[in-house]
Amino acid sequence: MDEIERKFVEKVYDEIFDEASELFKKYPVCGTFDFGICRKNIATYDNETLHKIEKEIEAGKRKSCNCCNDTFEECPYVSETGCTTKNMSCKLFVCGWVMNKYKNNKKFFDSLSKLKEKINMLGIPQYRYFKSREHLIDITMDKIKNSNFIKNSWKDYKEKYDKH
Ligand code: SF4
Ligand code: SF4
Repeated sequence: MDEIERKFVEKVYDEIFDEASELFKKYPVCGTFDFGICRKNIATYDNETLHKIEKEIEAGKRKSCNCCNDTFEECPYVSETGCTTKNMSCKLFVCGWVMNKYKNNKKFFDSLSKLKEKINMLGIPQYRYFKSREHLIDITMDKIKNSNFIKNSWKDYKEKYDKH
């Protein structure tokens, strides 16, 4: 079979990303971002840190985060209206607060696990936060090139895909 082309990888990546977006729409487990960090996640931070972040945002030293940002690292892809790229690792991330609060929501976590299994099988990185969609696709392409397991997973995936 032919080599797996980047165009196909990009298409599948975006489809999985959209699937994940739909899942988070169906189960709105996440918070709102009304002063720079997720309100639901606020409970996990100490007041001193929150105060520091608020001051930095007020002073224009930090953009409003509009993503989980649980390390307070300033991601180059964050903007005041949200994320400006499509990072799969970030998309499938849920914080400890969500894991605890919704631990009985089996349908949500089962669907999330299936998506994580799918990206792992295809070599799409699960833990590359603060990076662009293109960076994650570059890594995936490298894995296809260097790992027979990942290459074969893509070949199987493409075969099934083409039959649809
Ligand atoms: S995963 Fe947690 S911190 Fe991130 S948006 Fe959802 S609730 Fe907020
Ligand atoms: S890439 Fe990840 S960390 Fe950066 S803004 Fe987007 S969701 Fe947030």
